[in-house]
Amino acid sequence: MSPDPPSGGGVGRVYLVGAGPGDPGLLTARALELIARADVILHDRLIPPGALDGARADARLVYVGKEGGGEAVPQEETTALLVTEARAGREVVRLKGGDPFVFGRGGEEAEALVAAGIPWEVVPGITSGIAAPAYAGIPVTHRDRASAVALITGHEDPAKPESALDWTALAAFPGTLVFYMGVRQLGRIAAALVAAGRSPDEPAAVVERGTLPGQRTVLATLAELPERVREAGIRPPSITLVGPVAGLRDDLAWFESRPLHGRTVAVTRARAQASGLAARLRMLGAEVVEAPAIRIRPLDFTLPDLGGYDLLCLTSPNGVEALFGALRDARDLAGVTVAAIGPGTARALRERGVEADVVPERFVAEGLVEALADVPVSRALIARASEARDVLPDALRERGAEVDVVALYETVREELSDAERERALAADYVTFTSSSTVRFFLEAAGRPNGTARLVSIGPVTSQTLREHGLEPHVEATRHDVDGLVAALEEDAGGR
Ligand code: SAH
Repeated sequence: MSPDPPSGGGVGRVYLVGAGPGDPGLLTARALELIARADVILHDRLIPPGALDGARADARLVYVGKEGGGEAVPQEETTALLVTEARAGREVVRLKGGDPFVFGRGGEEAEALVAAGIPWEVVPGITSGIAAPAYAGIPVTHRDRASAVALITGHEDPAKPESALDWTALAAFPGTLVFYMGVRQLGRIAAALVAAGRSPDEPAAVVERGTLPGQRTVLATLAELPERVREAGIRPPSITLVGPVAGLRDDLAWFESRPLHGRTVAVTRARAQASGLAARLRMLGAEVVEAPAIRIRPLDFTLPDLGGYDLLCLTSPNGVEALFGALRDARDLAGVTVAAIGPGTARALRERGVEADVVPERFVAEGLVEALADVPVSRALIARASEARDVLPDALRERGAEVDVVALYETVREELSDAERERALAADYVTFTSSSTVRFFLEAAGRPNGTARLVSIGPVTSQTLREHGLEPHVEATRHDVDGLVAALEEDAGGR
């Protein structure tokens, strides 16, 4: 949707938008829509990764968050900026972690906007005090265990005489207590609650980095929680929860039980192709580091008349895409036997209305050679990458076929940013989906750390790793993305 132009000289509008607790999937549809339209986005540090990906290329993005408790930009300056930008006729999104009206100073900003006569709206977000426990397997209310919830700031030192919190009332509160910003004060909070009469044996939990791939939860009694949390080295951002509902975690923990939770997995394939693999790994709980080491560069090629061939071999989805760019339509393939090297290539063909005649059981060139053993071939065209191996053309020629090879694209090295390189080298798993990902990743990033487990899609890729002095720890038995994910999952399960 293209944004409305700033109304000629008129005042813009400010949206106080909640970005949710961290999982990008928990951004609301309304938040995404406004991010995509905004002229200016003022954002905090605790917003989900990629939350700003959908912003306009010409949008002004301003970081106004706090670092480590100190204020990077004083609140008055943030408020002043909201007013100035809106007065200049701009559409402004003030993007905040969680919900803007729950410990987000959204109320103050709204008051300032009203005072300045600026039109504004609020877009609620999913607050971390409910979402982090939910992802830890703790419902904040429960028919038998809690009929009320209190959202409390844990920022204040309970020992301070001017503390705004009534600890006696909190200790007596008939329901779940949820503390934001309290992990540094946890010892004092627990002590104050117990001193005011809350049972030291009540279940309690701290959820660190809730809803994010690195989420960790510590469950203990209220009295023991501070010590357990210290031992675990828990840090902000964390939510502390006190109440009988915490005990439900034993049965309901789901997020941290996913097979790849807590593992970082680097994906080295081309950016344009990484998303399917990345999505599957994320579904299993992995933190995915995208480190695209290769890029597909289309080549200029002249496609011979396909009528002169009885076999056409395609060796990748990229090849299918490039080939169809050169065809009039699928009818150009009428009469020729079409062979695909694997299910991904076959799927790309099917999406374009062509069902492959031959798909081998082993998705490598040798497998295709075997699968073609009984197919009569006199003239074959192999459409593929410029740098492919010659197993297939050689084998077909040996059988007496006339073989032409057309190079549709080449695989070139993609530069990695320093951050991508660093994160990829520190990953628990590095995945390689082709020999070119091995070569170009090692060139662009260097060698993964000694503890990283290297995952190869199949024997050819494994061989390339070995040629570089690296032994793959995991090799897929099915040489496609599903097979690679299955092999990685199995490896993680055994460790
Ligand atoms: N408006 C936000 C809260 C801002 S105060 C909301 O509605 O969630 C900042 C505090 O929120 C942090 O100190 C921490 O207690 C909590 N918090 C934010 N994100 C969190 C996360 N992903 N996991 C656990 N706690 C989180």
